[in-house]
Amino acid sequence: MAKYYALIPAAGFGARMGSEVPKQYLPVLGRPLIHYAVAALCAHPRIERVYVVLAPGDTLWTQHDWQAFTPKLVPLSCGGGERFESVLNGLQAIQGQVGSEDWVMVHDAARPCLDQALLDKLIAEVGEDPVGGLLAVPVADTLKRADQENRIAATEPRAGLWQAQTPQMFRYGLLQRALSVLEGIVPTDEAQAVEQLGFQAKLVASDARNFKVTYPRDLELAELILAAREGLE
Ligand code: C5P
Repeated sequence: MAKYYALIPAAGFGARMGSEVPKQYLPVLGRPLIHYAVAALCAHPRIERVYVVLAPGDTLWTQHDWQAFTPKLVPLSCGGGERFESVLNGLQAIQGQVGSEDWVMVHDAARPCLDQALLDKLIAEVGEDPVGGLLAVPVADTLKRADQENRIAATEPRAGLWQAQTPQMFRYGLLQRALSVLEGIVPTDEAQAVEQLGFQAKLVASDARNFKVTYPRDLELAELILAAREGLE
């Protein structure tokens, strides 16, 4: 039976955050942002191991206490210049530890509100799929295309459009192949790389709480969601 692994690319800087500290280490309820992605994935009983891909010169990871997640959590210092390179380098680093047909769930360090129910749903809906799939939400707002002056150039039809989230779940062999043969394209997610091979990944309906922390105000929203969840536990 195929096993499940998680891989968190965490070698980015988060330029849109405008902070000196890389986004994944910004404090959220007293912990680094990445703590919550690590905790959610490590807590899932089906996930064997959680790999974190750090930038080679990262000095901040070891300043935090990850003891609670050993031995499931494995840091790798092989991040690349683009997100897809960090993922590919991570896949190459774990070659031999993961089977070609095993599942790899790639999850952003900056999505702290992933919960066990969403992981269960992703595994239930994609675990037998021949291609793989990802969490995503159907677009709810009306979409406007802007011109150079931020005036509306067009209203885009939103029917059939989804916003991709993570985790994105693909078999190790397929994902490694997809990320190795991109020929000039810089994909912003794993599904895009898999699409280039002609495969159609499955969209699994998620919810807006699994958003990606991108701008400074997003940290407040993450704190509200996580604090409310802690209050329920
Ligand atoms: O910047 P953005 O939010 O799109 O990054 C998504 C994820 O990809 C983050 O977890 C970030 O750390 C990671 N990343 C990476 N290597 C890069 C760029 C981004 O691991 N070169």
